[in-house]
Amino acid sequence: MMIYADVLVIGGGPAGLSSAITTAEKGAEVVLVERDDTLGGQLVKQTHMFFGSKNEFAGSRGINIAENLRKKVNENDNIKVFLNSTAQGYYDDGIVGISHHERFKKIKAKKVIVATGASEKMLPFPNNDLPGVYGAGAVQTLMNVYGIVPGENVLMIGAGNIGLIVSYQLLQAGVNLVGIVEADSEIGGYLVHASKIRRAGVPIYTEHTIQEAKGKSNVEKAVICELNDNWEEIPGTEKELEVDTICLAVGLKPISDILIQADCEMAYAPQLGGDVAVRDENLQTTIEEIYVAGDSAGIEEATAAMLEGELAGLSALMDLGISKKISKKQRRKTKENLASLRRGPVGRKIREGLKITKEGNDAGKNRYTHIR
Ligand SMILES: Cc1cc2nc3c(=O)[nH]c(=O)nc-3n(C[C@H](O)[C@H](O)[C@H](O)COP(=O)(O)OP(=O)(O)OC[C@H]3O[C@@H](n4cnc5c(N)ncnc54)[C@H](O)[C@@H]3O)c2cc1C
Repeated sequence: MMIYADVLVIGGGPAGLSSAITTAEKGAEVVLVERDDTLGGQLVKQTHMFFGSKNEFAGSRGINIAENLRKKVNENDNIKVFLNSTAQGYYDDGIVGISHHERFKKIKAKKVIVATGASEKMLPFPNNDLPGVYGAGAVQTLMNVYGIVPGENVLMIGAGNIGLIVSYQLLQAGVNLVGIVEADSEIGGYLVHASKIRRAGVPIYTEHTIQEAKGKSNVEKAVICELNDNWEEIPGTEKELEVDTICLAVGLKPISDILIQADCEMAYAPQLGGDVAVRDENLQTTIEEIYVAGDSAGIEEATAAMLEGELAGLSALMDLGISKKISKKQRRKTKENLASLRRGPVGRKIREGLKITKEGNDAGKNRYTHIR
């Protein structure tokens, strides 16, 4: 059976929900597919007060933002939601195949918005496959969605915002946080979070890395060591820490599989987390029918993801000829909001990455020989 729609949104995080709401509110028939059993993406585990833009939800909790977006989606009859549904591929005839409750369904939409988010990066070190080594997102899901602590004595790797927030949540849950290890000479996350952790007596080891995990059937110890200016391990500085859990918060990378498989031109933008689709200022990729928004287009924040979702939705509406005049006006405003969010020294890295996604580069272009 074929399902038809004006717009197909792949991914039900803040970017995808925002796209679905924007397009459906103007009368488009929308199908939203989400591989998880609930809508909200990363927001469903974010119990902390939001950082990010003051104008866009700062001070709200991610779980509450997700609830608001979910309510708007559920109340809109123009949006058909498929949960537990993974988009598997985009084919030459513009059909997207999804697996839904172990069955394969086909969706033919005039426009497709990819908002598949990001996955966690791993670190190579001996025994990194022992039970007890987790990604920070997994720890957050265990604690904040299922109410389970990952272990008793935890070592956090990475002092960016995610590492610091999850560290603080571990402390709140009564876990013994043995320390935070950071390769850089400076803490990457907001200092207000780092100060709270230091006040609780937790050491933050900058210019350090994890050398190996030790244990027979699960993590029993972690060996850390100092790094020199070239991020090389300094022999003789090793320290053994008694831990049962090692939590990795070493960055995220965009989930680009569908875009690569659809043959969108890719670019390598380390500032945005890796390989991202080349797209224009309206978030349209090099395949005319496909737009990309949120972390799948480059790692940023939920506020930016929501604005990008809206922008992709407005661009799809305009290209479909729906509410063209209103959409054009609204699109200008959304672009201004995004630009203001990315202004100043904090947004410099993102601005550099976005320049690459507009121009493209050979590093991304040549990596994928076609698999479709
Ligand atoms: C620990 C942590 C704390 C954070 N704190 C903040 C904060 O305080 N403030 C802030 O602004 N940002 C914060 N962020 C960042 C923010 O959560 C993300 O930038 C935001 O969620 C990105 O939204 P998105 O919709 O692009 O992706 P996601 O939220 O990742 O959603 C993508 C969705 O797509 C689905 N999906 C993926 N592939 C498929 C497929 N093939 N088919 C169907 N569905 C698919 C996924 O299941 C997921 O639900 C935090 C992130 C983390 C990890």
